[in-house]
Amino acid sequence: MASTRTALSVSCVKVLPRPAAGYAPTVCDRRLIMRCKICGSQESKIIGKPRIDDKFPQIHLMDYHIVQCNKCSFYYINPNINLTQEEWTELYSDSYFANHNITDWQKSLHQKEREDRIKLILKYSNFENGSFLDIGCGEGIVLSEALKSGFKPYGLDIAYNLHQSVDQTKIQFIKGNIFDANYQENHFSAIYMDSVLEHVDDPISMLKEMYRILKPNGIVFIIVPNEDSLINDTKKLLYTLMLKKSKYGRIKPFVPPYHINGFNNKSLEFAIKSTGHKVLELSQFAGNYQFWKAYKTFSKAYIKELILYPSGLLSILLRKQYQLQAIFTK
Ligand SMILES: [Zn+2]
Repeated sequence: MASTRTALSVSCVKVLPRPAAGYAPTVCDRRLIMRCKICGSQESKIIGKPRIDDKFPQIHLMDYHIVQCNKCSFYYINPNINLTQEEWTELYSDSYFANHNITDWQKSLHQKEREDRIKLILKYSNFENGSFLDIGCGEGIVLSEALKSGFKPYGLDIAYNLHQSVDQTKIQFIKGNIFDANYQENHFSAIYMDSVLEHVDDPISMLKEMYRILKPNGIVFIIVPNEDSLINDTKKLLYTLMLKKSKYGRIKPFVPPYHINGFNNKSLEFAIKSTGHKVLELSQFAGNYQFWKAYKTFSKAYIKELILYPSGLLSILLRKQYQLQAIFTK
């Protein structure tokens, strides 16, 4: 009789060459044990296998799994990923930030999005002309918008990629992470962070540091992907139908875009509140609802978007949209 694999009967980690600081993945006979990075619980269930790029053969020494915390429902990679700083830097080379074949229509859409976000921050803001920090600022376009709205812009990124159209003399840019930057306590009126928290090794320490440098009544605006989006559920279903049941669609640590943390409404709210912040707004958005303007008719990307279109619309009704947006204060 064929053996039935339960969620816990996975093979154990074979090699642990470089245990990561702060997390000690230990393995017993029948299950993986690593504390949840958000709530610290040891109770989790195995969801599937992450996608791993062949560029990093040493990674295959590790038997990685995606697990979900039973308490706060955060998704994470177990055991913890354990690359050197040089290896992470290599992963985040220029190609990650390049806007591949972006159309003028998409550019104007992104511009409108940025303007709306700054307006939203201003709506909640209690300060005029305050300091505005963009964590993971990339090309710095958001900082240009913040500057136009009267903020003093500060940019932070692990690589220098400020666009030539950005007035770099008016931006205080630091290359490094938030801990290297060591900003002054209670300094920022607004902190903006789009698509960063899903990449970092220790999201809770990062949120705590943001709390420290934020002024009382300052505003934080963040965006992370929604791991429980309908698109993700659809991909899981397709994998199941293709008899690749253990594959997981979204968290993929070494295949672009290098996500190692997976949030949903519950875990994001837990992370924000547990670091002392007060949630002002937690909402969902996204979906390429006008994809025919973004891609060449019947191109591969166009056909993919066409197939996913009904599920994008349905995700609005089911509250399972692609991105989570949170606004919170101190
Ligand atoms: Zn948890």
